[in-house]
Amino acid sequence: MSTWDGGPFDAAIIGGGIIGAGIARDLSLRGARVALVEKGDFGGGTTSGSTRLIHGGLRYLEMLDFGLVRMDLRERETLLRIAPHLVRPLEFRIPFVRQSAWFRFKMRVGLTLYDALSYDRSLPGHRFLGNAEALADEPSLTKDGLQGAGSYYDAQVRLPERLCLENLIDAANNGAVVRNYCEVVAANHDDGRVGSLRVRDGGTGEESELRARVFVNATGAWFDRVEKTLTGSPSRRLRTTKGIHLTCAPMVNKANVLFSPIDGRLFFVIPLMGKTWIGTTDTDYTEDPANVSAAEDDIEYLLHSVEPFFPDIRRLPIYSTNAGVRALVRRPGSESSVSRAHKVEETHPGMISVLGGKITGYRAIAEETADVVCQRIGITAPCRTADLRLPGGGPAPAGEFGALYGSRAAGVEALAATHGRIGAQAVFAARHEFCRHLDDFLLRRTEYAFSADMGASVALEALDALGAEFQWSPSQRDEEWQRFRAAAERAHSATASTLPASR
Ligand SMILES: Cc1cc2nc3c(=O)[nH]c(=O)nc-3n(C[C@H](O)[C@H](O)[C@H](O)COP(=O)(O)OP(=O)(O)OC[C@H]3O[C@@H](n4cnc5c(N)ncnc54)[C@H](O)[C@@H]3O)c2cc1C
Repeated sequence: MSTWDGGPFDAAIIGGGIIGAGIARDLSLRGARVALVEKGDFGGGTTSGSTRLIHGGLRYLEMLDFGLVRMDLRERETLLRIAPHLVRPLEFRIPFVRQSAWFRFKMRVGLTLYDALSYDRSLPGHRFLGNAEALADEPSLTKDGLQGAGSYYDAQVRLPERLCLENLIDAANNGAVVRNYCEVVAANHDDGRVGSLRVRDGGTGEESELRARVFVNATGAWFDRVEKTLTGSPSRRLRTTKGIHLTCAPMVNKANVLFSPIDGRLFFVIPLMGKTWIGTTDTDYTEDPANVSAAEDDIEYLLHSVEPFFPDIRRLPIYSTNAGVRALVRRPGSESSVSRAHKVEETHPGMISVLGGKITGYRAIAEETADVVCQRIGITAPCRTADLRLPGGGPAPAGEFGALYGSRAAGVEALAATHGRIGAQAVFAARHEFCRHLDDFLLRRTEYAFSADMGASVALEALDALGAEFQWSPSQRDEEWQRFRAAAERAHSATASTLPASR
């Protein structure tokens, strides 16, 4: 079994979702020698199954979790500053439709408190609108029983996959060794401590030994499964729940916060990439998170919940569905009691674990984890991730590439003359963004798979460019096409049939 080049490492991180990526960036900026392994593609786990909001979370106010809301509102500001090309302000509306005076009073108090907790915000504060203004902006909203609307601001990250990626690019720029398609399959223990990990390369099947002074388990909803792999004993630290989204034809102009008439739960109807996203649900889920998908019941719950507010919903085509698995931290002593707050702890000697957390708070969670790791390995350098912009976070040129790559757009533009616009992005992804497969490019490096045709119109050009770059044989090209179809089917189940069976 081979060992890793670039070692020995100070820290080895398992999991390349947003939290693992944030930890890798933080530690490498402090001068630690870092390795990170991800069994699939970076950001392909729960990070890509989220609602894509950067928000304090109005719903957590109801749970009186002011500490969590405050942290996330502070982090919202930080992300608007360090990743302005990826995280953008978004206006939210709370339409009041046949609501009680008590409900409207609660919303007034809630929004006032939300503003107070984001006292350092750059975004506008809340206000209330009459029916005429609410309908002018949102013509599909029901007029029946409408009593005006509340308005407030939060933010949206269109591609959290790229937020994750840019953390890893920065980590690698600072010396970290980061590898996707590498799965941790076992741990070797020295004197009761984790001494090294056995890592299997998904491409070649080869196994290698990854040694480090400290290890970090940042595998999100996979945490209990990975713990069992590492220790051999069952672990039940998480409660995992499924959340789904529907994507349908464009219907809304603002992000709408609605309360389901079925159970009173808060959910969203949001404009995203030219379409409308509806979600999410929250139901217990115990299968492998990799297999999560929307069921008929989930879809019906959302449609039924939206109908009183947007009566046209049943007439609109649904393009696709997607799903993710939340990792909620079980409180000790009770089976069903869970917390939305994250936890960082040493789960066994040599292994620091992160449980729970949101995308919004990822940077702060990564800082807290890196503080613990640095204490163990004797690094005293302070965290710098709140002050340093992500690699694309500088001034961005106008146009399509600037919107996606920010200040890194010039690198893509330079390739466009020789490779065309799609080819340039594919080659850039292969050379500078750890892209290994066609589906990495269409689903997680760009927004193409989110278009109504799921990227079919650009897929062949991308396949040609990646095929030339990686020297794929005709059979490898065919495998890549089938791989992309299967991945697209999983990620956006309802529309997979729009993709041709072969190329
Ligand atoms: C439906 C839904 C909506 C959400 N909406 C929002 C939102 O709007 N805003 C927000 O802030 N948060 C939201 N969240 C929460 C947010 O998505 C997650 O908290 C966040 O993405 C978790 O990131 P992570 O890095 O912990 O997990 P993940 O992104 O799942 O990363 C963990 C990684 O570990 C890898 N892994 C597992 N086992 C191994 C192994 N053996 N070896 C190597 N790698 C391994 C997995 O492949 C995975 O990529 C939402 C969550 C859900 C489910």
